Amino acid sequence: MDTLFGGTFDPVHLGHLVAAEAAAEALQMRVRLMPAREQPFKREAHVASPEQRAEMLDLAIAGNPRFAVERIELGLPAPSYTVLTLRALAAREGGNRFTLLLGADAAADLPQWYEVESLPTLADIVVFARPGAVVRRHRLIARVIEVPAVDISATLVRERVRTGRSIRYLVPDAVREYVAAHGLYR
Ligand code: ATP
Repeated sequence: MDTLFGGTFDPVHLGHLVAAEAAAEALQMRVRLMPAREQPFKREAHVASPEQRAEMLDLAIAGNPRFAVERIELGLPAPSYTVLTLRALAAREGGNRFTLLLGADAAADLPQWYEVESLPTLADIVVFARPGAVVRRHRLIARVIEVPAVDISATLVRERVRTGRSIRYLVPDAVREYVAAHGLYR
């Protein structure tokens, strides 16, 4: 049993990592951070390549035994539809049941997802939210967990790089160094 946490991760930041760690702890499961090749709702936002986003994830999770990076979507047709990803994982790892971790924002979009009715047969859906947040329950949602609120977005990180400001403490040091070394987001 592993938990999947998908996203663009352009780049991964401490908000993602704090949420993933809290989820790993609450669920007592390993969390695989899964970069999308291209997200159906966010086609304009990519600045780093899929492989660069995955490499930044590798750097970000180094040393955390609860975390792994799942690259399956990088080899699937874009855009990445979760149902198709879960089927590909089931084909690769028959017998492994997955939990799908979603932020409350993504959970709100659930009804519009491609083939959403097949989701429960493929994975248990767990939604995470900041303390006190109201999550609209949906019959597809198995559980809601609270994670500490960290008000960082990848948009903020990219914008700060673009305007020459510091991203120290917003992303892991190794990610900050990678962004600088590859000239990303300028
Ligand atoms: P962008 O600013 O480019 O839209 P983002 O920071 O929201 O990106 P994504 O890669 O789109 O990052 O996020 C993947 C998942 O991580 C989403 O489900 C989102 O809810 C969640 N997430 C993003 N930022 C945070 C945060 N600060 N705290 C908790 N969860 C977050």
